[in-house]
Amino acid sequence: MIIVLKRNQEEEKVKSFIEMLTRKYEVTVNTWVGTHSTVLGLLGDTAAVDDEYIAAQPIVESVKRVQEPYKKANRKFHPDDTVVRVNENAVIGDGSLALIAGPCSVESREQICSVAARVKAAGATFLRGGAFKPRTSPYAFSGLKAEGLELLKEAKAETGLPIVTELMSIEHLPLFEDVDVIQIGARNMQNFELLRELGHVNKPILLKRGLANTIEELLMSAEYIMAGGNEQVILCERGIRTYETFTRNTLDISAVPILKRLTHLPVIIDPSHASGISWLVEPLALAAAAVGADGLIIEVHNDPSHALCDGAQSITPDQFDRLAEKVGAVTKTVRGL
Ligand code: PEP
Ligand code: MN
Repeated sequence: MIIVLKRNQEEEKVKSFIEMLTRKYEVTVNTWVGTHSTVLGLLGDTAAVDDEYIAAQPIVESVKRVQEPYKKANRKFHPDDTVVRVNENAVIGDGSLALIAGPCSVESREQICSVAARVKAAGATFLRGGAFKPRTSPYAFSGLKAEGLELLKEAKAETGLPIVTELMSIEHLPLFEDVDVIQIGARNMQNFELLRELGHVNKPILLKRGLANTIEELLMSAEYIMAGGNEQVILCERGIRTYETFTRNTLDISAVPILKRLTHLPVIIDPSHASGISWLVEPLALAAAAVGADGLIIEVHNDPSHALCDGAQSITPDQFDRLAEKVGAVTKTVRGL
C-alpha cells in the first residue's frame, strides 16, 4: 500500500503518523522523502488496513493499494486449485466440468424425484432445487421451505445425488443438516452477517455473484466466509445487470478466466439466471465449458410451461441430455479430458 502525504508536513506529524501505522497494523513502513512531499510504502499484512480510515487522516493526500485486499482467496498465497469434494463422484475444481442440475424450486415429490433421476442419468453429479426462494414480489411462490428440504432429501435417497440449495437466513441453518452444499444467492452476496456465520459452517458454500457486484466484491465476500475458517467456497457467475434488456442479465464470461487467475477457488457458471431464456442456456453452457469453468448450475424442469418459478429459463430433461453431451465434447476437446 502506498500513502502519499500532503506537501510540506512537519516532521513530528509524519513521525507520529508512522508510529500509529506500525502500532495499529502488522506492517513495516518505508519512507521516501521528496522535495515537497513524502511517500510511505506499507509492507506486510495490509489486508487489515482500512484505506478509508487512512484517507481520512489530515496529513494524507492519497492512498493506493498495490496488493489485493483479499488474502485467503488470493491465488498468490495459495497457488494450488481448491478442490471441493462432496463424495467420490461429486467434485468441483479438479479440472473437470461438474454438472449441478434440477428445478429452480422444489414443487412436489414427483417433480423433484423425476427430474433428479433424469439429470443423474445425463451425468449431473449434484441436484439443485430451491426450498427457500428469494422472489422480487412478495406475492410470488416463495418455495416449500422445510417441506421442500424434506423432498430434496427423498430425491437424494433415491438417486444418491448430493443436494445444493439456497439458505436465506441463518435461523434456518438447523434445517440444512442434510444439505451438502449451501447456496448463497445473488441477493445475499453482501449479507455480511450471514457470510460471517457461514465461516463457522462445515459445508461447502456456493456463493453467487450479486447482480451489481464487481469481481473484487465477490472475492471479498468469499473472504468473509474464509476468514471465519470455512475455506470450501465455490464462486458462481450468474450474470450481472447491464443496459441490455434482451436477456435477464448479461453473462460476464470473462469473469471465469479472471477469477481463475485471481483466486484458487472453483468457479462455476449459471447460464439459466444469466440469460432468462431456455434456448440460450445451451450456447452459454458451451461457452462456459470452453472458457475453463469448473462447473455449471442449470435449471431443469419436467414441465417448464407450468413451473412455479423461472419456467422461461428452464430446460427439459431431454434438452439437458443433449446439453450434457455437447458440454462433455467441448470439455474433452479444450481440456483433453
Ligand atoms: C436460483 O439459483 O434459483 C437463484 C435464485 O439464483 P440467483 O441468486 O443467482 O438469482
Ligand atoms: Mn431460479
